[in-house]
Amino acid sequence: MDHSSPRPAPLTVAELGFDPDALRARYRHERDRRLRPDGNAQYQGTRGEFGYYAADPYTERVEREPVRDRVEALVVGGGFGGLLTGAKLRDAGVADVRMLDEAGDFGGTWYWNRYPGIHCDIEASVYLPLLEEVGYVPTMRYASGEEIRRHAVAIAEHYDLYRDTLFHTRVTELRWDDDADEWQVRTDRGDDFRARYVVMSAGTLAQPKLPGIPGIETFKGHTFHTSRWDYGYTGGDQTGGLHKLADKRVAIVGTGATGIQAIPHLGRDSQHLYVFQRTPSSVDVRDNRPTDPAWAASLKPGWQRERMDNFLTVVTGGHAEQDLIDDGWTSTARLQRNLMAGTVDTTLSPGERAYFDELADFQKMNEIRARVDEIVTDPATAELLKPWYRYMCKRPTFSDHYLQTYNRPNVTLVDTADHGGITAMTESAVVVGEQEYEVDCVIFATGFEVGVSGIVAGVLPVHGRGGTPLLGTWMQGPRTLHGFYSHGFPNLFHLGPLQNATAVNFVHILLEQATHIGAVVAEARRRGVAAIEPAKDAEEAWIGTIRELAPDNSRFQAECTPGYYNNEGKPRPVGFTYGPGPIAFHELLRRWRAEGGMDEVLAGER
Ligand code: NDP
Repeated sequence: MDHSSPRPAPLTVAELGFDPDALRARYRHERDRRLRPDGNAQYQGTRGEFGYYAADPYTERVEREPVRDRVEALVVGGGFGGLLTGAKLRDAGVADVRMLDEAGDFGGTWYWNRYPGIHCDIEASVYLPLLEEVGYVPTMRYASGEEIRRHAVAIAEHYDLYRDTLFHTRVTELRWDDDADEWQVRTDRGDDFRARYVVMSAGTLAQPKLPGIPGIETFKGHTFHTSRWDYGYTGGDQTGGLHKLADKRVAIVGTGATGIQAIPHLGRDSQHLYVFQRTPSSVDVRDNRPTDPAWAASLKPGWQRERMDNFLTVVTGGHAEQDLIDDGWTSTARLQRNLMAGTVDTTLSPGERAYFDELADFQKMNEIRARVDEIVTDPATAELLKPWYRYMCKRPTFSDHYLQTYNRPNVTLVDTADHGGITAMTESAVVVGEQEYEVDCVIFATGFEVGVSGIVAGVLPVHGRGGTPLLGTWMQGPRTLHGFYSHGFPNLFHLGPLQNATAVNFVHILLEQATHIGAVVAEARRRGVAAIEPAKDAEEAWIGTIRELAPDNSRFQAECTPGYYNNEGKPRPVGFTYGPGPIAFHELLRRWRAEGGMDEVLAGER
């Protein structure tokens, strides 16, 4: 370290224009009044008597004969992870790919979520995968849910992935056949078929969840979850026009990324809208606009890869000559870099780095809070809408319509923070403290269960070599090489962040994962190897690497207001992804593939 350069001195309150100690105290106070001892147990799943909340409102379930055949590859999950893997397997020469999903069609989260106002808040040019391959340029900077869903369908069509699909189907058991070197697959539709390769891409936020509100089951009005929007009841479509709500008193519970997008439409179209808020989101500028045709015409082959890499570099704090995306995500990441670069030298200790990171964060959140005052006319309502926590404690949101909704006379913000959320529900009302709000309809924008996969959640039994149950071998924690595969469980691949990577644009991570799986399968086919399986010592070494490099975010997370990012205020001690971050991880994988790594998984080990 170069000690000759001057050390950065802490900035004074006058220099900063705000008091960091006062903000820290306020953040702590706001966290404390939201912490609940029951953590995740405050929620209930959409199963059993609440199963109707998760039923498919979009596609009729059709009876069919059970399937008893053999395919080369089964891909479980028809969202972008599954679609990308299907595409890469096709590229690898696998003709026989079966896609399977509990939904009635492709799209994953974009199949299920069709609420009014739905958009992706990551720029479409980097979020929608395989744009160049499919030959598509998004119509808007931030695409609507319907445009994204149609793109998912277009990928499936382009790679001929509809051919052998099983929709409205859930895998109930995977059992490895040692003699045949293939998986026996059973499903809830009575299917019993064989697949050489199985790829699990079931998503991480897939199952809608409800708050465990006392009396929720007694409510006699209409009710649904945002991920199963009932347009039969509301009228309209994803672009709005919810005309059937004109004479309805509507309650929406939750102000996360979903609530922020749906609330402007509900406010415009309901007779009266009550928004039940527990923690306000940070709501930054959206600035959506149509794609410039001149820009689209100027794009050169390889443009999407360049943009995706640029976005990932900027948002993970890396150095890029130019910020090609230049939006709310990247400018916040740049703010942190600039504050540090403009003030100090590059010899910062971790403590100094944390200090400047925090200052940048305070500055950003001050801007977010000032925006609330600029837009919301009633000062008391504005106060309730201000988020008091660090920027990445909760998922940031972006909207040019949300805060404005609270200036409407027919919209009431009901803050539930002092009560830990809604207190109770009756036959006709939502109750907060002593106050009852009579409503005709309650819409839950209360998010999803966080499951790393059905396997880890214990709902999908997997038996590997010799009938060994996978969860049994994972008792002390997951065991994989690079997050993809496990010793004793040949030809079984996992997509997801576990012992792999994560990023704001998770589709980028999925693309790298699908590319890797495609490359390994192609090599196995080339070598004529029947079983892809990591050597035990390679797996052991990777678990050690993950453990050694795991960033310990638990202090940061413990100071955050509760939510699914910090396991509802009970942060897990260490991270479970590759510590140095996604760019380093992708580089590691590329090197591994180029420098003989395949031998670790293609030795045909028994
Ligand atoms: P979230 O889990 O983010 O939000 C749930 C909301 O429900 C929170 O505001 C929560 O409050 C509130 N809530 C829960 N229980 C109660 C209760 N008992 N009383 C009152 N309020 C309650 O779910 P979302 O569906 O909004 O978003 C889930 C994820 O989906 C996002 O984080 C994002 O990853 C993704 N998404 C992405 C979008 C995109 O544009 N890319 C758009 C929409 C969603 P509290 O915060 O206090 O817990």
